[in-house]
Amino acid sequence: MTDSQPNPVPVETHYVYTSLRSAFMVTTPHEPPVHPVYVIGGGPGGLAVAAALRARGVRAVVLEKSDAVGASWRAHYDRLRLHTTRRLSALPGLRIPRSFGRWVARADVVRYLEKYAEKHELEIVTGVEVFQVERAGEEWVLHATGGRRLTGRAVVVATGYNHTPHVPDWPGRDAYEGELSHARTYRNPEPYAGKDVLVVGIGNTGAEIAADLAEGGAARVRLAVRTVPHIVRRTTAGWPAQRSGILIRRLPVALVDRLGAVIARVATPDLTAYGLPRPDTGLATRQREGAVPVQDVGLIDAVRAGKVEIVAAVEAFEGGEVVLADGNRIAPDAVIAATGYRRALEPLLGHLDVLDGSGRPVTHGARCPRETPGLYFTGFTNPISGMLRELAIDAEKIARRIAKAGR
Ligand SMILES: Cc1cc2nc3c(=O)[nH]c(=O)nc-3n(C[C@H](O)[C@H](O)[C@H](O)COP(=O)(O)OP(=O)(O)OC[C@H]3O[C@@H](n4cnc5c(N)ncnc54)[C@H](O)[C@@H]3O)c2cc1C
Repeated sequence: MTDSQPNPVPVETHYVYTSLRSAFMVTTPHEPPVHPVYVIGGGPGGLAVAAALRARGVRAVVLEKSDAVGASWRAHYDRLRLHTTRRLSALPGLRIPRSFGRWVARADVVRYLEKYAEKHELEIVTGVEVFQVERAGEEWVLHATGGRRLTGRAVVVATGYNHTPHVPDWPGRDAYEGELSHARTYRNPEPYAGKDVLVVGIGNTGAEIAADLAEGGAARVRLAVRTVPHIVRRTTAGWPAQRSGILIRRLPVALVDRLGAVIARVATPDLTAYGLPRPDTGLATRQREGAVPVQDVGLIDAVRAGKVEIVAAVEAFEGGEVVLADGNRIAPDAVIAATGYRRALEPLLGHLDVLDGSGRPVTHGARCPRETPGLYFTGFTNPISGMLRELAIDAEKIARRIAKAGR
């Protein structure tokens, strides 16, 4: 400042703590209030949208209920790696370092997300959970932790597809005398060394946890399967399954079903003798129903070696026993339910009529529900082409639309 410049008017300052940068954002009350765009959730989806908005000069504030970004990745099991490639998993404006390898480890995903927030100087408020979102004229009011009432010009909901662990309401579940947990709390096989464990559910998580337990010293591992999945190799002759997922996305369902069956016969062994016959519905048909194929990261070998036994689906619990759909009763030491998650958007948005019968938002990406302009969703689809890739694409679309609406 030179002597000729007037002294700045003393102003009250309003600070927003951004935990990642250990810094403070400053606004002056003398400027006309331009409400920010609020992004609910500091996972990859929310961070990507915030960065894409910032790149277009739109102020975005990320509200994250936990104490750091990437909360879900911090909580996943230890051995998890991305099954999508490093290149096809990067968010807008920052590559994932080559040193992280082709299949990025969970801890490195967390490092990447921290770096991402820092590089884009994102405004993130941690420890703030949004409980309800309400329309107020042209704007949005968010009710959040500590009685906060925050007004935004638009809202992006990025609270995650895998929000709340779901354990089916099996008869006898609550009175079960054995140990029953959800896969969300599984970290590594150590606590299960020497134990007889039943994993319920053969999605990607159940399949990998079963393999992890078998490799990590559990005495016996059984995997309860209701519907046999499509199992694909993560790569075939160096070609990642994710790239096939991207290529086939726009092809007719019947064609993909046929192609998938041919590739499966060549690439994966027949596991019928072990209780895993090839599915009778095609890969694309299943995908339409919301089921992504299981990427093999050890299950096939473990099943063939007899280290993971396939059993029928769980029907009920009785005392200390698990009753299976074929009538067998077993008494494992521990049951791990890899039975998925719910979006749990009802408390936040249920009153706005923006959710479908299964609790998913009726729109995603740049489109808003008709009656709620300015309300965007990201991360609520489960695409075969890789969720991180889709989050990156949707972030750009959402930011473009919001920036355009603000002009
Ligand atoms: C085990 C597993 C492995 C996966 N592997 C891959 C992979 O290899 N490749 C790939 O492309 N995708 C993968 N995915 C899918 C997807 O990419 C990840 O789930 C990703 O983390 C989704 O990002 P998100 O931001 O939408 O949700 P999340 O990462 O779940 O982030 C949501 C955030 O919102 C916060 N939050 C929730 N509710 C509120 C609220 N009311 N107020 C404030 N904050 C809130 C949460 O604390 C969380 O930090 C995987 C998913 C799982 C479960």
